[in-house]
Amino acid sequence: MTKHLVLFDIDGTLLRARGAGRIAFEKAFQELHGIGQAWGELNPHGRTDRDIIEEVCRVVLDRQLSTEESHALEQRFVQYFDEIIWEHPNFELMPGVEALVSHLSSTPEIVLGIETGNLLETAALKLRRGAIDHFFTFGGYGSDSRERSEIVRIAIERAKALYRITPDTQITVFGDSVNDITAAHDNGARAIAVATGGIGIEHFKEKTSADLALVDLSNLEDLATFFQ
Ligand SMILES: [Mg+2]
Repeated sequence: MTKHLVLFDIDGTLLRARGAGRIAFEKAFQELHGIGQAWGELNPHGRTDRDIIEEVCRVVLDRQLSTEESHALEQRFVQYFDEIIWEHPNFELMPGVEALVSHLSSTPEIVLGIETGNLLETAALKLRRGAIDHFFTFGGYGSDSRERSEIVRIAIERAKALYRITPDTQITVFGDSVNDITAAHDNGARAIAVATGGIGIEHFKEKTSADLALVDLSNLEDLATFFQ
C-alpha cells in the first residue's frame, strides 16, 4: 500500500521560471488579439493559468474569450513557452528540491505527484527544463480546473487510478501560497508551506493553518518526522 501521497506545487515551490510564462503569454496575446503587454500589473502568485487568462481578458478586452479563442490562445502560449523556456536565463530549481524529491521518490511506499495552476503542457516543460520530470508520473493541472482545491482533488483521483491509495494513505501538499494550504486542507491533506515564493515564513506561521512552514526545502531533517 501507499503510505504517503505527496503533491508538489510547481512555481515558487519546486522551481522558478521567472517571467517566462508572462513573456510567452504576452506574445500569444499580441499575436491573436493585437494588444501588447496585456499582463500589466497582475500578480500570478498562487493562481491558476485559466484564472489569470480570464482576468487579463476582462481587464484588457472587457470580455471573456469564446471556447475556440481560449483554446487558440492556450495553444499559442504553450508553443511560445516551449521556445522560451529552454534558454530562459532566470530559470532555477528551488534550494534542496532535487535532493528532496530524489529522497522521497526512492523511499518505498511514497508516491509523488504535481498540483499546479499551470497548464499540463507548460508544467511538463518546466519540470523537463529542471530535469526533475522523471520523479512525477501524474498530477492535477490548471488545464483541469480554475480552482486549486479541484486541481488537488483531481491529482488525488489520478493517484488512485495508478497506485494503491487507501484511507490510511497520508496525503501532503507542498506549496508556496496560501491557496495551496487551503486546497490541501479542503482535500483532507496536510499542508507544508515553503517561503521560497515570496510569502515569508512568519506569515505562514502566524496567519495560516499550514501544518509546517519552512524557509526552503534544503534541510531533509525538517521533514523526517513528517514522512515516517
Ligand atoms: Mg506556487
